[in-house]
Amino acid sequence: MSFSRYDTKATYSSKVLVRASPEYERCRRNNPSADTPGRYPQEIHIVSSPEDVATALRRATELGVSVGVRSSGHAFSLGALVQDGILIDTTHLNRFVDYDPNTQELCFGPAVRVEEVSSKLTEVKRFFPHGHAPTVGAGGFLLAGGQGWFVRGWGATCQTWITKMEIVVPDGRVLIASRSENTDLFWAARGSGLGFFGVVTRFWGRTIPASTLWERTFTFELRDKYERLMKWALEKGEDTPKYGTDLNLTIFYPEKYDNSFVTDDVPKHAKLHLGLSLLCYSDTEREARTLLSAYDDVPADLRECLMHMQPVQKRQFVDIFNKKREFIGNKKGEKWQILSILNEPSVPLPRLIETIKPAMCDLQTRTSSVFICICDIVPDESDASLSIPQKYYISTITGWNDERGPAVSQAMRDRYRRALPVASGTYVADYDPTHDEANGKPMSDSALERFLTIRAKYDPNDLFPTYKRFVATRDKINRLTNKATL
Ligand SMILES: Cc1cc2nc3c(=O)[nH]c(=O)nc-3n(C[C@H](O)[C@H](O)[C@H](O)COP(=O)(O)OP(=O)(O)OC[C@H]3O[C@@H](n4cnc5c(N)ncnc54)[C@H](O)[C@@H]3O)c2cc1C
Repeated sequence: MSFSRYDTKATYSSKVLVRASPEYERCRRNNPSADTPGRYPQEIHIVSSPEDVATALRRATELGVSVGVRSSGHAFSLGALVQDGILIDTTHLNRFVDYDPNTQELCFGPAVRVEEVSSKLTEVKRFFPHGHAPTVGAGGFLLAGGQGWFVRGWGATCQTWITKMEIVVPDGRVLIASRSENTDLFWAARGSGLGFFGVVTRFWGRTIPASTLWERTFTFELRDKYERLMKWALEKGEDTPKYGTDLNLTIFYPEKYDNSFVTDDVPKHAKLHLGLSLLCYSDTEREARTLLSAYDDVPADLRECLMHMQPVQKRQFVDIFNKKREFIGNKKGEKWQILSILNEPSVPLPRLIETIKPAMCDLQTRTSSVFICICDIVPDESDASLSIPQKYYISTITGWNDERGPAVSQAMRDRYRRALPVASGTYVADYDPTHDEANGKPMSDSALERFLTIRAKYDPNDLFPTYKRFVATRDKINRLTNKATL
């Protein structure tokens, strides 16, 4: 089938799409990565109200099949495509962003994209930590926790910003979950990601007054300085105030951005670059320079590799969105895989850097790249199921256009499997329910126990079965850990 461009507001002539109809296949394939797997739900329900969601859940119960939910399809493993199940597509469900000046809260639906939330915030001069990439949907982002803007000090978006959710549970009831209503559901929904057992139809989140975004950048040629550069860049994060800063590191071939290349091969003489995008949110340039000043003195041996440097300058969120569109594009049928770990905080930095080196430096194609975010998320398991410490989010994004998908994606899975001994777990947004080998734990063991109890109460018939994968991953990691300590 020929490639059709990802459409964030796709419309269909019917509410229920059945196999073999052209609209069914267009909808099934409407994902930001063109690598749509060969899994075919029995029906796709294009829902536009909580009642439609309840109808879809009833239909799944009648048929005795499982349910998958898709808000934007950015989880590239596309676990939402359940063979013979029901896919609930939320594209048109509460597709708005409202701001209430009395409560100073936003209210929005699950398929609302980052750039739609951002545009509303610009209009009302407020801030809320949405994600960094323009087309990511609210649903999966917030269920996973949400490494939103300036996450370091303000926590994951679901921890400190989300006040309420509207959720359709498997028996079709529409419930409000918050810190005072259906508190077990609210706990379970914030951090379980694709393991969640209901359909979120609306979110409410608090906001603060807007300030100004600033960015300072460095680009180094990696040469033989991988260890030195990584250590310097990550340690300087420790010297940078947590509140109002957003520190990101990338490793890539500059040829990634050169459209004159027609193949995915890494060009013969290509040299890896390491980029730093250091962002902060403050009212004045002077404050911004202070916030990012830990990076002022680049050591002499690293200066030799420094290719470009830009001083602190004003940015708009749309500037960053445009950069991200280049970083993971979906213009020409590109296919993508994301693998990641969250580092185990007790592992010394040099051992971490050494262990992850193959995943960082052995990129499989010209368009692949590494993305590391200094997140500093400290979980509070008593408050939310988000329960794995997230100091560094370390990921590799593998991209390809040609037929070599399985070879390059498996090669990267092998590298991430070998990084598991230095991981505290996997950010649940990147958890792959279809290939377990590179998955770390998406939740702590104690959070998972509590989650399983709540889940059994709401979903006794297993309409949402991904939790079984979480249990299998926990057992796998515990077996590996026990072996290692024998
Ligand atoms: C380019 C790119 C940039 C990213 N940037 C960030 C970032 O800055 N910060 C960050 O934290 N993450 C980021 N992510 C990860 C992203 O948050 C996850 O992929 C997330 O799962 C996407 O959610 P979605 O709803 O858009 O995607 P989907 O693939 O539609 O959803 C993922 C899963 O979430 C569940 N789900 C989705 N909607 C609902 C719903 N309404 N009710 C119940 N379950 C639902 C389903 O199980 C689904 O399989 C990024 C990913 C990409 C590809």
